[in-house]
Amino acid sequence: MNPFAYTRATNQQAAIQAIMQQNAKFIAGGTNLLDLMKENVEQPARLVDINRLELTQIAERDGGLRLGALAKNGDTANHRLVRERYPLVTQAILAGASAQLRNAATNGGNLMQRTRCYYFYDTAMPCNKRAPGSGCGALEGFSRIHAIFGTSPLCIATHPSDMCVALAALDAVVQVEGPRGARSIPFAEFHRLPGETPELDTNLQRDELITAIDLPATANAFADHSYYLKVRDRASYAFALVSVAAALDIRNGIIEEARVAMGGVAHKPWRATKTESALKGQRAEERIFRIAADAEMQSALGTDHNRFKIELGRRAIVRALTIATDSGSTT
Ligand SMILES: Cc1cc2nc3c(=O)[nH]c(=O)nc-3n(C[C@H](O)[C@H](O)[C@H](O)COP(=O)(O)OP(=O)(O)OC[C@H]3O[C@@H](n4cnc5c(N)ncnc54)[C@H](O)[C@@H]3O)c2cc1C
Ligand code: SF4
Repeated sequence: MNPFAYTRATNQQAAIQAIMQQNAKFIAGGTNLLDLMKENVEQPARLVDINRLELTQIAERDGGLRLGALAKNGDTANHRLVRERYPLVTQAILAGASAQLRNAATNGGNLMQRTRCYYFYDTAMPCNKRAPGSGCGALEGFSRIHAIFGTSPLCIATHPSDMCVALAALDAVVQVEGPRGARSIPFAEFHRLPGETPELDTNLQRDELITAIDLPATANAFADHSYYLKVRDRASYAFALVSVAAALDIRNGIIEEARVAMGGVAHKPWRATKTESALKGQRAEERIFRIAADAEMQSALGTDHNRFKIELGRRAIVRALTIATDSGSTT
């Protein structure tokens, strides 16, 4: 690990001032950043510790909920109002990592965690995300865990978060603060596809601090019929091969509105908009779920190693929708 300077910020302005120094990085729970530093993937010259900032609250706001960026993943999942109104978020967080990690990891850090592509972590291998222009180890190597939607010739990595898949489905909004003031970023615009710039994971500017994540009041409508399904190699401590966040607003057996997002399939949480359109106004039944799953998955493109994700994704969508329909709120 390289030597680095350390600053503990006691308020937001001080944190933003400190991050403007060259090659500085925020550190929250440290559960991802410290691993990346130990592997020499990230080499910040300065860490700006934001754990003293007053951003840990989870509170009602405009009929929805505001989740502080420094609230722990565990506290967020177990918060009474999150469990009651946004059980999809609770389920997604609890599907990830371990209890110990969730007690250290923060909501802001969860959004900013980096891909688990093996070649990104291995500094002996080429990787356009870690070292732009060096090539992509996965494209010529083993790509079992990689993306099937929205890839580019430069990068086929996936975003690893579970929580973000639920936030994408529920149209959360990310609140950020920087030297140019505060702004709100709709969740769909927060993470990026790799395109020509796979080194950029998000549209957050380098000097901006995530302060909160807002869950909108309108997403309350899905509380009774939502489910997060995570398919992985082991039952715990494993990232998703494919995951599905399914949220339905069902009235008299008819789907008024559907939200479906997928994890483990793209560089960002993937909104299955074709599935959503195929569900709207239809009966909540398996035959329709199959048609809706096909609508999205027919545009997926796999490699020799990860083509299995296409059928897996299809089945996972059908299963998540079926469980969401049958369940009332499950948490
Ligand atoms: C063994 C293991 C298993 C895991 N399994 C899963 C899993 O199954 N599913 C899953 O979703 N996750 C999993 N994780 C990842 C875990 O959820 C993340 O490491 C965690 O959420 C990151 O939060 P943190 O506060 O520790 O971030 P840090 O490590 O402190 O920071 C991560 C990044 O976020 C930036 N950052 C942090 N806070 C802010 C902020 N407020 N504003 C701007 N930038 C910020 C940092 O600069 C850094 O770049 C796993 C992690 C480990 C180690
Ligand atoms: S898939 Fe992306 S992260 Fe993985 S090696 Fe290729 S460029 Fe790097």
